[in-house]
Amino acid sequence: MDYLKGLNPPQREAVEHTEGPLMIIAGAGSGKTRVLTYRIAHLIHAKGVDPFNILSLTFTNKAAAEMKNRIEQLIGLEARNTWMGTFHSTFAKILRVEADKIGYPSNFSIYDADDSKSLIRTIVKEMKLDDKVYKPNTVLSRISGAKNRLISWETYLNDPFIKADDEAAMKPRMGEIYRNYQRRLFKAGAMDFDDLLFNTNVLFRDHLDVLNKYQQRFKYVMVDEFQDTNVSQYLITKKLAAVHQNICVVGDDAQSIYAFRGADIQNILNFEKDYPDLFVVKLEQNYRSTKNIVQAANSIIAKNKAQLKKEVWTQNHNGELIELIKASSDNEEGRMVATTIFEEKNNKKLNNSDFAVLYRTNSQSRSIEEALRKMNITYKIVGGLSFYQRKEIKDLMAYMRFVVNKEDEEAFKRVINYPKRGIGDTTVEKILVAAYEHDIPLWEVLTNANSFLSGRAANAVDDFTTMIKSFGIEMERKDAYEAANSIAKQSGLLRELYEDKTIEGLNRYENVQELLNAIKEYVDNPENEDKSLGAFLQEIALLTDNDRDKDTTDAVTLMTIHSSKGLEFKQVFVVGMEEDLFPSQMMMQSREDLEEERRLFYVATTRAMEKLYLTYALTRYRFGRLLNCEPSRFLEEVDPACIRVNKRMTSALSGALRNEFSEGRSGFIGIKKPANRPTTTAKIHTPSPDFKPSNTNNLKEGMLVEHPKFGYGKVTKIEIEGINKKASIQFDNFGEKVLLLSFAKLRII
Ligand code: ATP
Ligand code: MG
Repeated sequence: MDYLKGLNPPQREAVEHTEGPLMIIAGAGSGKTRVLTYRIAHLIHAKGVDPFNILSLTFTNKAAAEMKNRIEQLIGLEARNTWMGTFHSTFAKILRVEADKIGYPSNFSIYDADDSKSLIRTIVKEMKLDDKVYKPNTVLSRISGAKNRLISWETYLNDPFIKADDEAAMKPRMGEIYRNYQRRLFKAGAMDFDDLLFNTNVLFRDHLDVLNKYQQRFKYVMVDEFQDTNVSQYLITKKLAAVHQNICVVGDDAQSIYAFRGADIQNILNFEKDYPDLFVVKLEQNYRSTKNIVQAANSIIAKNKAQLKKEVWTQNHNGELIELIKASSDNEEGRMVATTIFEEKNNKKLNNSDFAVLYRTNSQSRSIEEALRKMNITYKIVGGLSFYQRKEIKDLMAYMRFVVNKEDEEAFKRVINYPKRGIGDTTVEKILVAAYEHDIPLWEVLTNANSFLSGRAANAVDDFTTMIKSFGIEMERKDAYEAANSIAKQSGLLRELYEDKTIEGLNRYENVQELLNAIKEYVDNPENEDKSLGAFLQEIALLTDNDRDKDTTDAVTLMTIHSSKGLEFKQVFVVGMEEDLFPSQMMMQSREDLEEERRLFYVATTRAMEKLYLTYALTRYRFGRLLNCEPSRFLEEVDPACIRVNKRMTSALSGALRNEFSEGRSGFIGIKKPANRPTTTAKIHTPSPDFKPSNTNNLKEGMLVEHPKFGYGKVTKIEIEGINKKASIQFDNFGEKVLLLSFAKLRII
């Protein structure tokens, strides 16, 4: 078979081993995703498997679309019918069909993180708790953590260990919030993202006939990026594959970067226990990157203790050395990135899309964007405040959601008085109290507004429900595009935006038009059989940030390292290689945290095919102020034989800077400390033997403290910004640092 020629012997072995459990453990860029793709093609083409019987779970919907495309190229259109998508989108589809079995309507809403936080805020307020203690973010991640470990609220409330844990964290009411949150979601006919997996587990646990149906359907199950699955996801796949046992998982423990979301590297280790006759294939030859990049990546990951042994190697040529770029400030870092891209593009005849700039946190994109704009280099940002998170888009989507599911509380809150129709907060509160305290369906409350609201308010609510009803009728009769169009017009939303003649207003109007275009595209796509508004909404709710860009223009990609997983670019810049930024200040409390950051660095470096740049700045605006930065400890961990210091510093600083680097080929690459700045990464403080973090609630200016890494220092300022309390501390050896007190471990001396 011709296509098998594009594989090396172990890859081919993995492709041809179609029956029984298979685990492919392999290094970055060694062809894991390629093997999955070929394996599906092989199953269909050579083994005659019906595409309908194959389920593949990918990390993003975009990855699924790309794989489908590739399979089509290999074997033709037959590939169309395979089941392929993320865990969330695949099981949302199944839940839509089976919803009634677990008491949900089939048109259930999917709450995004904003909706969830808004609901938590409401619940915390109703329970008369302090929202500074029960912060929506903290509560949500606690609940999410529980759900990803399949801990229901009932179990949560009755578990003495969890209780003790919450009490120690001074949040004893967490379990009740969890309970109320779930009840409220259920009543609103809504699921959050974690529920999609949790409820699939419930469905398969309680309805064996349903489980059996899907077990029979999915004769072959495949999972890409297996290292980042959580317990809930793992159990679903295990159950589905229990009958045929044709399960193939593909992963790299060195790239596990979602532990904070409950992903568990143990899944890889347990897999061998769960399937004693498991066949394991190791792929170690990297096809993506130059020798220098592979060697650098190996040297980084070797510093981690927790890892499976693998030797990643490549036959590719050495390529250029990795370039270390030092900038005087974050703005200069942006300029240097932009200039380098400009030059490399010209010198090597590359496209914008051959470049990616990767950062640890979204906020770092600003200075890079500015510089790229100034040089007229087209770029796109993946993630960040994406299109579907913009207010005007969420508003119109909320209308659509409410028309589809009239119990959707969060959608209701968004649209009831927008555009303004004289329904005030008190009226909304009365409606919600009636619905939630007396447990009456929201829509029933709304359609009986006369019975508990005064004349004017009742009339306004009445007009609103009449409008929603008419939208409902349109939705039944028309496709998603026509329905959405009428909703946008008749709700008054489009007019409201149109009348705002400011530039922002114009932008918002155009965005809404853009959403309507997207719906039209959806309706016109022959692959989408269900053209209803409900189907479109579900599709949108499950797009991840990575899926939302359309690859039409030639643009440099800007994204967080987390979103770059599985991708590759000819040239990659990893920017902000500074202590406290990368590794992140929030991830330095334990060895496990630091190792996860290091794996993230490994993921970043292995995205590069031909050239890798590591950049850092000496000063950077963070927390609204100019801070001195130290080069990241990770820079010292890169094998010095693979790296060189950038020679063409653009500014007048270049001469001075060059002196600071000794371009050694052995040992530490030699970042010398500037005379006026304190010692850098090389001398991390060793905590005193009796080091124990103090309660920092009463920390005051002038106090002396010890930090486990930065050593001794004096508090120069305490500030409260929003929900965060921050201390500026002048450390003896590390200069001034601003630390978030909820994270920093400090001993008051
Ligand atoms: P990651 O760990 O980043 O997810 P991966 O292991 O999934 O990487 P792929 O993305 O499948 O790796 O492959 C990396 C690159 O190497 C791709 O460009 C792929 O086409 C190429 N490649 C993989 N195997 C071969 C091969 N046998 N011959 C030629 N090219 C290959
Ligand atoms: Mg891959």
